[in-house]
Amino acid sequence: MLNCPLCNTEFDKFNIDYNTDLTYCVRCRLEYRYGQLQAMAAAKRFATSQCPKHLTVHEAGQRTEITYRRISPIVWFLIPLTYFTLATALRGGIDPITLESFSSCEQAVIRRPLLAIAAFLVCASIYLLLARIQIVLNGKQSEISRGFGWLVWRRKFDATQVRYVAIRLGNVSVNDETQPEIRLVLEQGSWIAFGALWTDESRQYVAGLLATKLPLL
Ligand SMILES: [Zn+2]
Repeated sequence: MLNCPLCNTEFDKFNIDYNTDLTYCVRCRLEYRYGQLQAMAAAKRFATSQCPKHLTVHEAGQRTEITYRRISPIVWFLIPLTYFTLATALRGGIDPITLESFSSCEQAVIRRPLLAIAAFLVCASIYLLLARIQIVLNGKQSEISRGFGWLVWRRKFDATQVRYVAIRLGNVSVNDETQPEIRLVLEQGSWIAFGALWTDESRQYVAGLLATKLPLL
């Protein structure tokens, strides 16, 4: 929870308008930008915290490079599944239950789709093992990229146009629980979101680092 910077009254979560990003202190009768208060609090925490183990931060002049790399726990389900699918597909088309050879019809119906699924699972496992998120802050030439090698998704943005940094509940759910994400809120209410699958510690650290580095409007 956040407190009023003047009187330290805790902001009631029902008193925050997420559409306009405004909150109101009932005691001081002052309106605040909630995102800005959140960024200030994150920057304050960041000043005294250690860099979490999944993160690396490189700074060179104006450029700051933040990399998050963590092997997703999904990989530990995907690897045995990949192995089983691949082994069944490659075992010369022998039915794993009856131990009889597949007929030519079964070959077409079972083996080929299995090979296709196995190929997909192999790619997915490699991707998850090597995937990472990188945020490069470099003025107007800033970008966020996910993936590795040629499998990279990039989103370029102008860091001088970021209005505020916030942590908000997003669209990603894990076990039916909506996960918070880091948002770089730009002009006209558009934003870039990331970090929904990160550890909470990493999210707090990066939000604080971004709030410190960005010339928030
Ligand atoms: Zn107040």
